[in-house]
Formats: sequence, C-alpha cells, structure tokens
Amino acid sequence: MTEIATAKKVPITVAHGDGIGPEIMDATLRIIIAAGAALDIETIAIGESVYNAGLSNGIEPSSWESLRRTKVFLKAPITTPQGGGFKSLNVTVRKTLGMYANVRPCASLFPYVATKHPKMNLVIVRENEEDVYGGIEHRQTQQVTQCLKLISRPGSERIVRYAFEYARANKRKKVTCFTKDNIMKITDGLFHKVFDEIAKEYPEIEAEHWIVDIGAAKMADTPEAFDVLVMPNLYGDVLSDVAAQITGSVGLAGSANIGDHCSMFEAIHGSAPRRAGQNMANPSGLFHGALLMLSHIGQGDVAEKAHNAWLRTIEDGIHTYDIYKEGTSKEKVGTKEFADAIIARLGQKPQHLAPAEYAKDAVLDLSIRPAGPSAKKQRVGVDLYIDKPNGDPDEIAAGLNRLGVAGAKLVVIANRGTKVWPDGNPDTFWSDHWSCRFESDGGPFDGSTVAKLVEGASGAGFDVVKTEGLYTFDGERGYSLAQGQ
Ligand code: NAD
Repeated sequence: MTEIATAKKVPITVAHGDGIGPEIMDATLRIIIAAGAALDIETIAIGESVYNAGLSNGIEPSSWESLRRTKVFLKAPITTPQGGGFKSLNVTVRKTLGMYANVRPCASLFPYVATKHPKMNLVIVRENEEDVYGGIEHRQTQQVTQCLKLISRPGSERIVRYAFEYARANKRKKVTCFTKDNIMKITDGLFHKVFDEIAKEYPEIEAEHWIVDIGAAKMADTPEAFDVLVMPNLYGDVLSDVAAQITGSVGLAGSANIGDHCSMFEAIHGSAPRRAGQNMANPSGLFHGALLMLSHIGQGDVAEKAHNAWLRTIEDGIHTYDIYKEGTSKEKVGTKEFADAIIARLGQKPQHLAPAEYAKDAVLDLSIRPAGPSAKKQRVGVDLYIDKPNGDPDEIAAGLNRLGVAGAKLVVIANRGTKVWPDGNPDTFWSDHWSCRFESDGGPFDGSTVAKLVEGASGAGFDVVKTEGLYTFDGERGYSLAQGQ
C-alpha cells in the first residue's frame, strides 16, 4: 500500500453549488480521490436554493458549524439571484472567517492553450480584508464622496509573511511587491516597509518592489519576469484577473482564500448557468482550487500526481469545448470523460510542459510575531473638513481666524488635497469640500482644543462635516501634507 492510501482522512466541507457546480465538483472529487486524496467529506448547501429560502447571504446558519470544525471549504460556484437584497456569499464567508490571503496561481499551457505569454508561471498573493474593501464610504457634500483606505501593520505583516512562506514552501525564487507608495506614502508606504522588513528574514528568496502602474504594465507584457507577487487588496483584485486572462483562459484558474480559522478553495469562474446539466463544462478551474486545498492540508503528493495527470491530458489534446481548437486538440470531451481521461493518466507526467512540483511536507510558519514597542503618539493638530458651496479660501480663512481658539493656528486650507490657502493658485478647481488644517501654536493640542474648534466653527456658521486628528509617532509625522504645502 502506498503512503498516500494510508494517510489519515482529513475532514473537509464541500458545497456543490449551482449551474455547472455539481458536475464540475463531481469530476474534481472523482479525480482527486482516485489520485489518493484522504478526505472525510461533509456536504453543505449554499447558493440559489438557500437564497430562495429567504436567507439573504446564501448560507444556512448550521453550515458555519461545519466550516469552523473542518476549517477547509471546497466550494463550487453559485448563482447569485438577480435583484436587490442579496449579499455576496463569498464576501460573507471570507469576512466572517477572516480569510486574509487570496492566492491565485496563473500558468500558461502553451501551445495547448493559445496565449501571447508561453512562459508565464506566477502566483498572485492578494491581501483580502483591508484597503478600500472595508467599503467605508461617505458622501459629505453635494459634490464630494470619499472611501476610506485602511492598511494595518498586522494585516500587512500577515499577508507579506504568507507570500514569503508560500514561496519558500513551493521553491519559488522571487517575491515582488506592488504598491503606489510614491503617492500613498503612509498607507502603501507601510505595506512596502513591512515587505522590506520581512524580506530580510528570507535571504534565499529574491525580493523586489515595483510601483503598481509600471509593475502592472510589465506583468501584462512580460509576465515571465515574475514569480510570486504580493499586493494590497485593490491592486490584487484587478491584477489577479488580468494575470488569469493572459494565461489564455480564465476558465482554468483556481484560487485559495486562506485564513486562520478556515480556508476556502474554488474556481475563479461562475456557475455558467447556460452550460448546466449538459456534461459540457470544464472542471479544471475547480480542480485547480482542489489542488491548492490538497497542498494546504498536507497532501501535496496527491496534488502533484493529479496535476501531472491533468497536464498530460491537456498535452494529449483531450479538451473540453471551451479550450478545444482544431489542429491542437485531438478529442472534444464532456466533463465526465475529461475526468476519466485524467484518472486514466494518474501516475504519468507531461512530456513537454514542465511537470508540477508540490511541497510535500512543508509547514508554513504563519505564527503572529509579537508587536514591536508602541511609538509615542502625540496630537499636534486637526483637519476640519467644511462643506461650503461656492466658497472662497480667503474668506474661509478669515472666518476661521476670527474663532480665536487658544493653542490652535490655521496653517493651510486644501481642496481635494491641493493647497488653496495661503497663496493658492487661481487655476486650481474648488469643490465644496474644504480641508482646514489647525496646528498647535507651541502648547498642548488636546481633545478639548478640537472640540472648541468644531464648536466655534459651527457657531460661526461653518458646516463641519468631519475632523481628522493630526498625530506624530515618536516625532514622525503621521499625516500627509497638502500638495503645494
Ligand atoms: P461565468 O464565469 O459563470 O461564465 C462566463 C462565461 O464563461 C460563460 O460563457 C460560461 O459559459 C463560460 N464558463 C465559465 N465557466 C466555465 C467552465 N467551467 N467551462 C466552460 N465554460 C465556462 O460568469 P457569469 O455568466 O457572469 O456568471 C454566472 C453566475 O455565476 C452569476 O450568477 C454570477 O453571480 C455567478 N458567479 C459566481 C461566482 C462564484 O461563486 N465564485 C463567481 C463569479 C460569478
């Protein structure tokens, strides 16, 4: 008996989903079990039937218990019902169970699947909880709306460490970080700083940073220059779709959502309702999600065997309709027959494509390191945001200077981040949203100074829509300057 066959069964939770979901899940499970996956499967219902039963987030309350117990969720795509009132199941599961890392390998299969990038083989590790995805938005004036971008040190440490641990376990050679810290020096600057700090703990792995705009251009043009990429949520959301698309087929990619309490594995495509029930769908996306799952639960040897059989099947030209191409393909098959072809090739390796190699017994060290000493935080001022249509910066400054709040002096007024007082440029566009910065005139600047400013400004007829505290940390400025300040 092989080691694989005697492995202890790992409990996992499986959801068969909607549309093509049940067919591609059956095919996926059949392949990985034939390859030797030792799984103890619990099934839960999600998606359309649950939404239609009146549960707005598409999952039954009892299912959470299974997810918390197994901590591993293999999920087929679901159909999100049309119309309002329904919450995204993926977002609910991800957020509720704190799945902080999204991992998406994107490798081309040239010449078997047409692509402009025959040598591409990269993995995008996307931060999954922070950035602008808190969805914290406000409309503050007639003209201006805002969205809060939050980047935390622990959140950045976790995702960057995950990227390096993943690279080490999977024998990847380089980790590249994308940020826009030339503009967002504090938020993206923190992510970049954490990346530089953690990279030092992995001297055998090359570490590099690109500004996201040129980095994204390079990735779309020369993806073979990259290996593992790590980035904040929004850039990762956009670029992981670009990366999957340029391999030649979005339909083949899987992804993992990793958390401390539960991890979820899936295809990146949806439930393709028009293809449902016809034994047509390509199960490869969900199959790749399942490979990530096997690697995650310590069955990398099974993942490797199944992945190599899949590569061989693709090489042999046995293709589902979506990747079938006259000339390259040899046989057009259905979902079931494609799975059978892979099972028949278990134990074989590809002859032309690079064989898959999985970490066999690597354990990712994702333990949270103790936080460093707290910096000394000191309040040094406040930004008062004022709603004033057709305002004039000189008049606003004159009105605010008349408040005469002891300890506070008005130093700058900005409109959408650009200085408009003192010495504004007449060509700058003025919206109705004015940021008026008060700083300490040398003495203490405490909460009561802020309260007096808000009260005074409101009493003088200003519509104060928010305040933003200005702090230093160990003397280092914790806020941006207005452009031109
Ligand atoms: P889709 O990914 O389901 O389909 C897009 C196109 O790709 C269609 O032409 C489809 O036939 C084809 N396709 C997708 N997967 C395929 C496969 N495995 N084999 C062959 N062809 C495949 O996207 P959509 O049509 O925009 O969405 C359909 C439903 O899926 C919607 O209800 C959407 O909300 C849902 N959805 C779910 C998830 C998820 O559960 N993670 C993700 C995306 C979309």
